[in-house]
Amino acid sequence: MLCVLFLSFTFKNHEPKGAYFGSNSHIICAGVKAQLCGDCGFGNKKDNCAKCGKWVASSGVQAMLCSDCGFGNKKDNCVKCGKWVASSGVKAQLCSDCGFGNKKDNCVKCNKWIGG
Ligand SMILES: [Zn+2]
Ligand SMILES: [Zn+2]
Ligand SMILES: [Zn+2]
Repeated sequence: MLCVLFLSFTFKNHEPKGAYFGSNSHIICAGVKAQLCGDCGFGNKKDNCAKCGKWVASSGVQAMLCSDCGFGNKKDNCVKCGKWVASSGVKAQLCSDCGFGNKKDNCVKCNKWIGG
């Protein structure tokens, strides 16, 4: 959904003015799913908030990365310990506090607004 919003934004403004996107603007997405490595996501550790560590219960919200923190294969690093998650990536979640309202649109690593 973030990707779609981002695209329509880009198109509305015609050519992205200069710098930003080059010719590959169509493959850039605004948000990247944050992941946990096999250690940090083991068992029910995956149900702990990636930000504050609180148990997310059933209210877990997918944690996201901004385009900086999720750029290239940085998205394959665990958001908790930074280790490469390889193919064992587990989705990182936010508790209902950290994911409340549009807080879920902040990067789980640097807290920047991911936007769209
Ligand atoms: Zn939290
Ligand atoms: Zn980890
Ligand atoms: Zn970030």
